[in-house]
Amino acid sequence: MISCEGFTHKRVVVLGLGKSGLSAARALVLSGAQIYAWDDYEPSRDKAKNEGLKLCQLDRINWGQMDALVISPGIAHTFPKSHIAAFQAKQAGVPIIGDVELLATSRTTAPQIAITGTNGKSTTTALLGHIVQQSGREVEVGGNLGPSICNMKMLDRHGLYVLELSSYQLELCPSSRFKVAVLLNITPDHLDRHGDMDGYILAKRNIFHNQGAGDVAIVSIDAENTAKIFDELDRKKGRKVIPIATTCKAPGGVYIEDNNLIDDLNDEAKVVMSLDGLANLPGLHNAQNIIAAYVAARTVRVTVDDIVLAIQSFPGLAHRQEVVENFDGITFVNDSKATNGEATQKALACYDNIYWIVGGRAKETGILGLDDFYPRIRKAFLIGECANDFAAILDGKVDLDICGDLWTATSAARTAALQDGGPNAVVLLSPACASFDQFANFEERGDTFKTYVDALRHEHVGLGEGSMT
Ligand code: ADP
Repeated sequence: MISCEGFTHKRVVVLGLGKSGLSAARALVLSGAQIYAWDDYEPSRDKAKNEGLKLCQLDRINWGQMDALVISPGIAHTFPKSHIAAFQAKQAGVPIIGDVELLATSRTTAPQIAITGTNGKSTTTALLGHIVQQSGREVEVGGNLGPSICNMKMLDRHGLYVLELSSYQLELCPSSRFKVAVLLNITPDHLDRHGDMDGYILAKRNIFHNQGAGDVAIVSIDAENTAKIFDELDRKKGRKVIPIATTCKAPGGVYIEDNNLIDDLNDEAKVVMSLDGLANLPGLHNAQNIIAAYVAARTVRVTVDDIVLAIQSFPGLAHRQEVVENFDGITFVNDSKATNGEATQKALACYDNIYWIVGGRAKETGILGLDDFYPRIRKAFLIGECANDFAAILDGKVDLDICGDLWTATSAARTAALQDGGPNAVVLLSPACASFDQFANFEERGDTFKTYVDALRHEHVGLGEGSMT
């Protein structure tokens, strides 16, 4: 657990007692802070109480006496409307921070590598964690992925923290100085919380604040908005700024050409490895994640050979184009994390012979913009509350079945792939939708898919009947 020396004997309000808030509260108590804990949601309060935390109603707090408000990243403190506690804290001049700030002000001496971007954070973070761990260095991977910040171990200067950070978290860590900061991409997301795209970009840019001499910024130059940030940082003295690119050359950085990873860090443009056949990291989007992790690992002195071996042995992350099974010549892929059309587009781009399970609770953009990928889709199997709306969009362009539930869709997709799939058939769950209409979250949806695929496999070898209706 992280110890929060900076807050010993301080009075701290902890608002939001979910996973990260609860561990922050525990860490603060163990560090000798006096905490005032609250959550608007009763079951979270009950859980905290059962763990021995003392709760304090917000209207009893004398903000003039507080030293900090530790707020969960999910709670709004500016847009669309500030939570009342954040409003009162601001009026009283009390700093509003998150658990990343607690790590920044703790006595740990291990360098921190932070990774952000609209998409690819978890994959890049997990991949970099895997590379560092395989190289034999002690590493703690956490933040938005894995354990919450305060549940990580204290490390000394030989260790390394690899942190996945969201835009919300980056607004709440004014003292953090990241030895290495990675920006992958920025596309419209969470605009309600940041006001507009400019606000969102500003939040993401916080990953570079406080960086100075000896620090490194790794920035994609594929898109105009991040290339602009690269240029701005590069013009300033101090930190080193390294470009990465998958769609163009990146002089002085690392880029992809003919699906080869090219290392130009020493202005020598050497081919390091081919990305062909990396089944757990398919597609150009994952190439971006790979080169980001590659540069970050090089920056902390992992050897090129060790990095290449670790990229090849990376097991992939669950629910992100996860290869579940392969039988009867059909590959079953779980991409349940694809909760919007943009993420699904990345998966559709990776296969040619697709039996596509899609649907759930639609986001604003739905499945618009996927037309270019229709020729790759043999048939769509629609589930969830948007099934009829999506059917209307696909009608006449893609063969489809309205299946309703995931079991019906999975078994129908398998049957269709068996009948006419030919070689390389892929049954792909990439819903382009939130899961909440039928599942607790995307993890439960993906796990359910895996159970169903397993049942079909057993049916295939004659061990069961797969009667899951
Ligand atoms: P995040 O943690 O940022 O949500 P993940 O690594 O969990 O990102 O990937 C989520 C989805 O985003 C993946 O299923 C994939 O479709 C897409 N994705 C992954 N990496 C990238 C990238 N670098 N650029 C664009 N999309 C990506």
